[in-house]
Amino acid sequence: MSAASPSPLLPTFARVGVSFERGEGPWLITPNGERYLDFAAGIAVNSLGHSHPHLVKALQEQAAKLWHISNLYEIPEGTRLAQRLVDHTFADTVFFTNSGAEALECAIKMARKYHYANGHPERYRIITFEGAFHGRTLATIAAGGQAKYLEGFGPKVEGFDQVGFADHEAIDRAITPETAAILVEPVQGEGGVRPIPAHCLRGLRELCDKHGLLLIFDEVQCGMGRTGKFFAYEHSGISPDIMAVAKGIGGGFPLGACLATFNAGKGMTAGVHGTTYGGNPLAMACGNAVLDVMLEPGFFEHVRQMSLLLKQNLASLADRYPDIIDSIRGEGLLIGIKAKIPNGDLVAALRHENMLSVGAGDNVVRLLPPLTIDESHIATAMQRLEKACQSLSLQNGQSPKA
Ligand SMILES: *Cc1c(COP(=O)(O)O)cnc(C)c1O
Repeated sequence: MSAASPSPLLPTFARVGVSFERGEGPWLITPNGERYLDFAAGIAVNSLGHSHPHLVKALQEQAAKLWHISNLYEIPEGTRLAQRLVDHTFADTVFFTNSGAEALECAIKMARKYHYANGHPERYRIITFEGAFHGRTLATIAAGGQAKYLEGFGPKVEGFDQVGFADHEAIDRAITPETAAILVEPVQGEGGVRPIPAHCLRGLRELCDKHGLLLIFDEVQCGMGRTGKFFAYEHSGISPDIMAVAKGIGGGFPLGACLATFNAGKGMTAGVHGTTYGGNPLAMACGNAVLDVMLEPGFFEHVRQMSLLLKQNLASLADRYPDIIDSIRGEGLLIGIKAKIPNGDLVAALRHENMLSVGAGDNVVRLLPPLTIDESHIATAMQRLEKACQSLSLQNGQSPKA
């Protein structure tokens, strides 16, 4: 195909002209053998890096036995994965999906059905937050409330009320007799790596208890070890009633899950919800293999240590390049660099140094490395960040501060 011929792909992504043939841990390798340090991890998906031997083995063994069998039958590896998630979280019950948006769809339907089952079908509205991202289905773009994702797709799905980020009074005012739940990311990812302070999460829990609302956490991005705990809500000392999980849970295999208490899930009886692929044997083999690694003693402690080291280094970088970097924020290995120049320029400059990162809202560059990185990868990342800042600083007509 000549370079000029149009791509056969629907152009919904502004793709960068680079492709990779294989991966090794936090490294991605192009067909020419060029190596990139992957601090994007497929947007927090490759939680254990690329080609993790335990994951490769689990998928290969399962592929030789059984790929798919309908949810009409028992899937023992799925029951086992659900039990392990239940044993390590607030939840009593799990529904597997193929993606984050589907996990959110399940959470939204579950919250509505809960109140319906309690004799309150009028309670179907869900409060969400400005800057939120919950996926790209019709309901989840309505929940996220971002004009750029809603535009042109017809009437917005009814039943979502958005309030300002951390605007406590607005949350109070938004609660009506029709409110079913509050939906929030404990750390906003796409919105620009904005952690919700623990006391605010506790405040939301109290509000929900006071008004009989369900508290739904979207931990699609911030869950699965990303913040240095299995799930981000553990930092706050409270737990949700329903939680959507995806991204890191499959280590790269498409997998999501909606976790809930028995009480919150009470309306979800046989036949009311379903999925063809969700929780199939290939996905369950990968999900269990990810947990085998993450639940080993010391795994989350390692994430916290690497986070501390990376953040210390980034703070010093920010001091040296005040014309490029405004501030550093985030939890664990979900780190945001708020840029003073357009964030896309920093992402591009890093890519020029063979390092991958991801843009986010609020002019932030996200660093989402595999959770398995060590000190040497952080040292390499810092060298590349330094070079990128240096070249941008020179373009800005300034020399770095000594
Ligand atoms: C990525 C993401 C989603 C959507 O997940 P998909 O797998 O793309 O459907 C939902 N919520 C949050 C917080 C996310 O980061």
